[in-house]
Amino acid sequence: MSSDFLIIGAGIIGLAIARELKRRQPAASIVVLEKEAEPGRHSSGRNSGVLHSGLYYAPDSLKARLCRQGALEMAAWHVEHGIPLNRCGKILTPLAVEDAPHMERLYARAQGNGVRVEKLDAQGLKELEPETRSATGAALWIPGAAVGTPADVLKTLADEVRKAGVALWNNAELARVDAAARQVTLKHGERIHFGYAINAAGLHADRIAHQFGVGRHYVLLPFKGLYWKLKADAGIRLHHLVYPVMDLRTLTLGIHTTSATDGVIYLGPTAVPAFGREHYQGLHGVRPIEALRMLRDLVRMFLHDSEGYRQQAWQEGRRYFRRGFLEAVQALLPNVHAEHLAPAAKVGLHPRIFDRRRGALLKDFIIEQDAHSLHILGATSPAWTSAFPLARHVCEHIENPGASAPEKQETDFAPHDRTARTSDAPP
Ligand SMILES: Cc1cc2nc3c(=O)[nH]c(=O)nc-3n(C[C@H](O)[C@H](O)[C@H](O)COP(=O)(O)OP(=O)(O)OC[C@H]3O[C@@H](n4cnc5c(N)ncnc54)[C@H](O)[C@@H]3O)c2cc1C
Repeated sequence: MSSDFLIIGAGIIGLAIARELKRRQPAASIVVLEKEAEPGRHSSGRNSGVLHSGLYYAPDSLKARLCRQGALEMAAWHVEHGIPLNRCGKILTPLAVEDAPHMERLYARAQGNGVRVEKLDAQGLKELEPETRSATGAALWIPGAAVGTPADVLKTLADEVRKAGVALWNNAELARVDAAARQVTLKHGERIHFGYAINAAGLHADRIAHQFGVGRHYVLLPFKGLYWKLKADAGIRLHHLVYPVMDLRTLTLGIHTTSATDGVIYLGPTAVPAFGREHYQGLHGVRPIEALRMLRDLVRMFLHDSEGYRQQAWQEGRRYFRRGFLEAVQALLPNVHAEHLAPAAKVGLHPRIFDRRRGALLKDFIIEQDAHSLHILGATSPAWTSAFPLARHVCEHIENPGASAPEKQETDFAPHDRTARTSDAPP
């Protein structure tokens, strides 16, 4: 079997790339490998479905460049395909007086990134969302934020690429790579020769890149996103998404609300360390050697305590337990009590990329390339929002490999370069 393009992974990124490639090269043969029985069983089917507006990201980052446009395109795609979309807007509120400068930075960054944002005073906040609070009285209002329906998007997109002539293979796990021979072997033994391979394997992308001999200094650290649901009879009426003002150094969103398109209000997600690429529950998905490697990298970050990582680890660790989670919710929504929370089955894993050369957790998407393969590493939020322009960006890199200059990276943790955080400054 041979194919011009081989895409590994049928999450939102793999499917969006298949769609874009087929548009650009209609005659090319494209195979998408998916190890599960259907697309979207991992991050793309387990996320919050928020179409982020693009206000958080450093102006020179790929995330800033792709997210705003991605949100517009993803919203339009929902409308075009009759998929439910909740255009509810988002409020960002400071939970402590010390968050005031972070709010100002977010405001400036939103403006720099071309995102529509308004400042609210105490009265404005009370009128828009009476259930929340602000430690300073002020808040930010981002009217363009919306919530989509990831499961419907994945299904419709998979149907679309199939109809366009892409071969979408489920239960087809890539097991081995012979990069020199441009050949992969699947778990069930079949061999595929490829012209060009694109690795969009999400939580497994670093491991697969290493098999191609690419990006060996990048390893993945998974962080677990747990949710709770707000009971429908809790008597808490929320009209918009409500988020705490985040510390831009870490890019961790904090516990927030998501009003899903089926009417359920989710609280979360957490970002607690996980010890396996598919460590969703109990010890399932934990492999001892890999877990030890992850633990070692986490301990290294904890000991250096750069950019507030130690406090973040402590905070997130407490949220693993119902009591700590409830405290975080109450900081945002004081009228929510323990009896208002119901467990949610949804749990996702954020694949954060740790750069071993710098000892740093990276914030941006990373694209690594050689002559016959391209690898998308660290496709964390907002990759779902950004999927369509990200797919175009990838295709441009394939067509013009010279364009693949290394992306400038913001880091969560940069012990050797504490002064280099210029991108935290307002644009
Ligand atoms: C809790 C949580 C909340 C989030 N909320 C948002 C949000 O509100 N908005 C937003 O924009 N983003 C959000 N994200 C991020 C977003 O979900 C991801 O960035 C996006 O889904 C990544 O898509 P992907 O296609 O790269 O990965 P995935 O969806 O994980 O797809 C990768 C696919 O590759 C397959 N695969 C892996 N290894 C192999 C192999 N060896 N052979 C064949 N197939 C393989 C997997 O089975 C999988 O289907 C969230 C993420 C999490 C975890």
